[in-house]
Amino acid sequence: MKQASRRTFMFQVVATGTALVASRAAVAQLGPAVPETDPTAVALGYKEDTTKVDAKKFPKHSASQKCSNCALWVGKPTDAAGGCSLFAGKSVKGNGWCSAWAKKA
Ligand code: SF4
Repeated sequence: MKQASRRTFMFQVVATGTALVASRAAVAQLGPAVPETDPTAVALGYKEDTTKVDAKKFPKHSASQKCSNCALWVGKPTDAAGGCSLFAGKSVKGNGWCSAWAKKA
């Protein structure tokens, strides 16, 4: 292995390791998943899957509404789970929904 390619290889190893540590830190910041049985979740009709929302109970709900496009979502639109300001210290599913859903501006 030439000196330059060894240096490039070592740089890639360090860069990859740094990226892994950063992504693990981001995941670690997410709290435990909010169970649908959580008292606040029950009160808000939270479901981990927006397609499972009771249409009779929540007639204004639409399957296109989900946590990842809610104004209270803390995360990227493509994240599978993220934060929600209503559930401090916990995480909600990106595909979840609750009756506090509000369109992201
Ligand atoms: S407020 Fe928004 S992000 Fe939070 S649980 Fe309800 S729909 Fe999901």
